[in-house]
Parts: sequence; structure tokens; C-alpha cells
Amino acid sequence: MEKKKIKHFQSALQEIRMEIVGGVEKSQNNGKKEEAEQMPDISDDAARAYDRKLQGDLEEQEWKKLKQVEAALEKIEVGEYGICNQCEKDIPTARLKIVPYTEFCTQCLSNIETNGTLDDQKTQYTREP
Ligand SMILES: [Zn+2]
Repeated sequence: MEKKKIKHFQSALQEIRMEIVGGVEKSQNNGKKEEAEQMPDISDDAARAYDRKLQGDLEEQEWKKLKQVEAALEKIEVGEYGICNQCEKDIPTARLKIVPYTEFCTQCLSNIETNGTLDDQKTQYTREP
């Protein structure tokens, strides 16, 4: 993929990440400000707990999305962005424009939706008749 395009997707991904993480921080400030002020010595714990807390505060779907966004940003770093996790073919740019953090091409995604999730994520293969 062209570097220019990758840059575009990179900033789109960073924006999505900011939206997810920023939304949580905003709601924390509204609801838990007093609590934080009563604990002045939390810098170490705070850093460690941050990830867990974030996970607890986010809807499961949002959390998944955040992980996908981060994975996509990592892929950009190593130059593998836009490659399907399953079949390792290029994901169509048109699809990346809609879902820049997608991990699979359209074909694999529809396979996943038909057969359940891949790998170890969830082993509940409830196949419709
Ligand atoms: Zn694929």
C-alpha cells in the first residue's frame, strides 16, 4: 500500500482510539473525581490498574474495537497493515475505509460469521441449522 494511504489510515485509527479512550476518561472525571482526590499516592498503581479499569469501564464491544485499533496500529509499524489475518491477502482499500481496524478481508469475515469465531477467542460454535 502507498505510504500516503497508510498515513491516512494511521491518523484515522488514532482518532478512533482517542474517541474510545477519551470517552472513558471523560465519564470518569464526571463520576469519580472526589474518589481520585482522596488517594494522592497512586501513581504506580494507577498505571498498572489503568488497563484493567479501562477494560471494566468500556463496553465489551468497545474494548474489542480498541484492541483491534491497537493491533492495526502495530501492523502499520511493522509494515503489515491491510493484510488479512486469516488468508494473508490484501484487504480491499474500500473496506479499510469503512473499518480501518478490520483484521480480515471480506471473504474471511463472512466465513467467520458463518462458522463462528476463529482460534481461541470463543469456542461456542452455535451453528444455525
Ligand atoms: Zn482473508
